Amino acid sequence: MTNTLYDGLLSGTVPERAFAEIPGKAGIGSRWYTYAHIEQVSARFAATLVARGVRPGDRVAAQVPKSIEGLMLYLATVRAGAVFLPLNTDYTAAEVDYFIGDAEPKLFLCDPASLDGYIGLAEKHRVYLDSFGVWRDPQVSAGTFFDFAASQSGTFETVPRAPDDLAAILYTSGTTGRSKGAMLSHRNLLSNALTLAKVWHFTDDDVLLHALPIYHTHGLFVASNTVIRTGGQMIFLPKFDTEQVVRHMQNATAMMGVPTFYTRLLAHDGFTEDTAKHMRLFTSGSAPLLAQTHHEFEERTGHRILERYGMTETNMNTSNPYDGERRAGTVGFPLPGVELRIVDDSGVPVAPGDIGTIEVRGDNVCSGYWRMPDKTKEEMRADGFFITGDLGMQDEDGYVQIVGRGKDLIISGGFNVYPKEVEAVIDALPGVTESAVIGAPHPDFGEGVVAVVVGDLDEQTIMDALEDKLAKFKRPKCIFFAGELPRNTMGKVQKNILRETHKNLFV
Ligand code: AMP
Repeated sequence: MTNTLYDGLLSGTVPERAFAEIPGKAGIGSRWYTYAHIEQVSARFAATLVARGVRPGDRVAAQVPKSIEGLMLYLATVRAGAVFLPLNTDYTAAEVDYFIGDAEPKLFLCDPASLDGYIGLAEKHRVYLDSFGVWRDPQVSAGTFFDFAASQSGTFETVPRAPDDLAAILYTSGTTGRSKGAMLSHRNLLSNALTLAKVWHFTDDDVLLHALPIYHTHGLFVASNTVIRTGGQMIFLPKFDTEQVVRHMQNATAMMGVPTFYTRLLAHDGFTEDTAKHMRLFTSGSAPLLAQTHHEFEERTGHRILERYGMTETNMNTSNPYDGERRAGTVGFPLPGVELRIVDDSGVPVAPGDIGTIEVRGDNVCSGYWRMPDKTKEEMRADGFFITGDLGMQDEDGYVQIVGRGKDLIISGGFNVYPKEVEAVIDALPGVTESAVIGAPHPDFGEGVVAVVVGDLDEQTIMDALEDKLAKFKRPKCIFFAGELPRNTMGKVQKNILRETHKNLFV
């Protein structure tokens, strides 16, 4: 028995190699953090967790500001044999109440600024509440956890765990219904880090520009685990800020982003070929990257963004090739060790080029949902394939395309309308920045197609342009214009909000 994840990630790192943390605009200067510090600080934090009563298998919930210490807290939790439960910093106390009630952590760490607001919640759930801030700012209390940790030993004997023991629970973003806690094991996380490091050619010479949040699978596991595993360096930004990203990109070799990172960079005049000349890799995921963004980015920088596809429950499933054609509008091929199939409603694989539900199997896939055996059964086939809920197709060459979430599928007059297909046609019109297509309840058709468009043109022009491109049942019955589309922090368009806004349109 070994501590699979921590040992697996840190083996091979060189102690004096470092990460840089760059503070936000109001910060007080950057600082360095070496792998030797990581070992020591995660040891101090792990000892603090144990002193707070955390035992192997216990959950440690954290709603903390992004910082390298936040990352150390994750590593310390797995070193202590416990299960890390990061929470989106935007969650309100009412939302946090649900997660704490559901996961029953032993310890809940929060931003010192939120501490008072959580005292009642901690009493209600009988959870130990502690504050955990950002260590670097002497003006602001870093929290009692740090005070205690400072007096702990810099060595800690990592608690042995088996590969299938849990390392983390990540709640899905829950844009439909209640959030579910994906149970991620040491094996799930380590296997994906090893695979990504290899297929994306990460080495200890890499410097990753890290601007993602670390409460989500993308910033915490895809980005951080992959870099730590290869002993690389990171420039850790508190959040995506276009100016800061442009400034620090000259010192980086890679960036992992969501599509909005790329559209914002392209909207910035200071972002040029020169800015990106030191870079070897840009990846995109968490939401679909418009083919137009992909092409504009290549024109501006000479780099082809590598798009990949994954989800909280499965880590990463597919990736465009590092060497070979990165095909815009696709998410590439299944990763080594990941089996992927596309099936119809009865679970039978469809022919290449046909649309169906994407299912995946492999060491990357979580074992199910925390305390929701019925949901686990609904989404996990008897042969171990996980039903992603994404609709997609795989072409003759093996490239996978995502055409939308199953729940986003519109059925109008008995015909299936894939929003992505309609959006792609609208997005290609001159003057359109982007669009979102949804179904609204309709007395005749069941659902009527509705488009929300960001752009500088009128409804009639769009309708005329679609006439010879899309069958009538696919064309929007109504088009609305908006300054921007509602998005969550990972850049996903919140279609549930649009559906709610337009639910009475036809009825
Ligand atoms: P999350 O669990 O928050 O990471 O969300 C996972 C979902 O994001 C997937 O099930 C997909 O619907 C979507 N997603 C992730 N990557 C992509 C991508 N490259 N293209 C389209 N959708 C994506």
